[in-house]
Amino acid sequence: MRKRELEKFKKLLLLERQNIHKHLAELEGASETQLSQGGGDSVDLAALEITQASIQKLGNREKKLLNKIAYSLEKIESGEYGICEHCGEKIAPARLEARPVAQYCIDCKTELESNERRYSDKDEEDEYSSDDKFDDAG
Ligand SMILES: [Zn+2]
Repeated sequence: MRKRELEKFKKLLLLERQNIHKHLAELEGASETQLSQGGGDSVDLAALEITQASIQKLGNREKKLLNKIAYSLEKIESGEYGICEHCGEKIAPARLEARPVAQYCIDCKTELESNERRYSDKDEEDEYSSDDKFDDAG
């Protein structure tokens, strides 16, 4: 991959990392606000617990993505970025643009996903699908 392209994906990754940090800070802020309001006697504890659970879940997901972003940034530095970790072929730029943390080309991804479905217990790349990549609608 050319240096200019690498720079572009680096920027994408850094931007995404920034968004996640921002979002995580917001989540923590929301959680704290709820806790500080917990002194009142009309507080709905069940709702509070549900919110905290979902905050935690979202937070974990985003932290996981942060790891992937860090990993991708390392690969940019080492010159391995954009190479499929399964077959060693180049990953299509369009795929990388949609999903800068992609580790596999689309063929391998499809293959790996069908394996995942067979063996369940999914903990692969697309837990964070490209659709909710910038999931900050909330
Ligand atoms: Zn591949």
